[in-house]
Amino acid sequence: MFLERSINQADNIGWIEVICGSMFSGKTEELIRRVKRAKLAKQKVKIFKPKQDTRYSKKKVTSHDNNSIKSKPVNSPEKILELSEKFDIIGIDEAQFFDDSIIYVCNKLANAGKRVIVAGLDMDYRGNPFGPMPNLLAIAEYITKVHAVCTRSGKMASYTHRTVKNEDLVLLGDTRRYEALSRREFIKVKRKKK
Ligand code: ADP
Ligand code: MG
Repeated sequence: MFLERSINQADNIGWIEVICGSMFSGKTEELIRRVKRAKLAKQKVKIFKPKQDTRYSKKKVTSHDNNSIKSKPVNSPEKILELSEKFDIIGIDEAQFFDDSIIYVCNKLANAGKRVIVAGLDMDYRGNPFGPMPNLLAIAEYITKVHAVCTRSGKMASYTHRTVKNEDLVLLGDTRRYEALSRREFIKVKRKKK
């Protein structure tokens, strides 16, 4: 009886998957792909995003390729906890915009048996680790780093370069404000700007 119960409890444990990379690397596409597959298997899925990400749509998670899926914009990670109870899979996009309580929330969800899929920018436009992402990567069971194509060299890009003059850490935008660059090209533009 005791053994049976502990096996059942073990079955109820979830896990955390993180999808990270630069802008245009396909994080949102990958999140949407995983979620659509889970839905085919009749899993109950809910996607959240920070309220401040209004780039394409208020109520959808949208990739730069215009793939989209319904999502719930929330002000804080605690709200995700509140709204997740009846779902098997929790997707979170643009996780870099949340505060550090997202780490506690993801652990809590996984401990409660949910599969948590988190997508977010690993670095900001200066090339520094972004918000809670380093800690999310530390607590995740599975990590996928995706890459964009460097718009200057055609090589693999893992940096996001801001092409407009603005020093706010958060500046929403697309290809009119950002470009994906390889390490080499990123260093080159940074040197020129000095
Ligand atoms: P992310 O969520 O990582 O910003 P998305 O999933 O929204 O990325 O978008 C990925 C899509 O962006 C690609 O499939 C492609 O159509 C488009 N794209 C635009 N610029 C680039 C680039 N430099 N490298 C790769 N994909 C790009
Ligand atoms: Mg995205």
